[in-house]
Amino acid sequence: MELRKPLDILALKAGDTVSKKNLNELIQQSKIEGSAYWAGEDLKIGNTPQQGINWVGALPECRAVIIKSKLGSYDKDGWDAGSKEFYRYSFKARSGQVSQSEKANKVLINQPQFGYPILLFTEQKFTKRHLIWIFEGAFRVSELEDTCVKLARLEDYSASNEVRQQEAGYLEGGRKYVSHLLIERNRDAALAVKKTQPWVCDICSKVFSDRYGVEYIEAHHKVPVSTYSESYKVQVSDFALLCPNCHTAVHILMRTKALAYSEIKEQLK
Ligand SMILES: [Zn+2]
Ligand SMILES: [Zn+2]
Repeated sequence: MELRKPLDILALKAGDTVSKKNLNELIQQSKIEGSAYWAGEDLKIGNTPQQGINWVGALPECRAVIIKSKLGSYDKDGWDAGSKEFYRYSFKARSGQVSQSEKANKVLINQPQFGYPILLFTEQKFTKRHLIWIFEGAFRVSELEDTCVKLARLEDYSASNEVRQQEAGYLEGGRKYVSHLLIERNRDAALAVKKTQPWVCDICSKVFSDRYGVEYIEAHHKVPVSTYSESYKVQVSDFALLCPNCHTAVHILMRTKALAYSEIKEQLK
């Protein structure tokens, strides 16, 4: 996938590949106002002089952390017990010393507090001229050790986004559809909606926890995709809360029939 703006990175799904050139350019030029990758002061991608770890947005509450891991560069780096559920990642050290106040380490130490996703990339070499990163998925910090962190896969990140990400690839005007997904995944907007409305599905009126015993709801952005523009401001009233099944159905109907939310709601009631 070609990354064109910093938030595009949140639309990747596990297994997607990104060229090293593309990711480097995105990281470097996101800091340069007026460049093709610039998306505003709030979406600059930060880094330290050491390679390997970056963050999207301002610290401490950034949007996402990017880890680019090359197997073999640190002893402990790698998948835990052969499955792709846990990954060990070493803290950055200077002359053998790990400093907990180093920004590159702090973004990992602070992750449990702020909840941003850690996007893990591993290196794949095809040929010297064709160097790519494989996106392994989104992770959280599950254990802090002295010299490394243990990352655990965020299952709901890929499960709830996968179907919609696949659709994005098929849709004409796919960029607008990606904007739709990014708005829905905007943590601040989603949290605001979930705080102000009861967790009842807007379409089937069911309460997820009545059936499954755990609280869960998704925020769907109702505003027609065709009206998006650079200056568009997201509001709480633009969202409907939906159960995962109804939400998936809404997205399939958006894609296949290009219906507005109100029409889809009428049809599914
Ligand atoms: Zn529902
Ligand atoms: Zn939606």
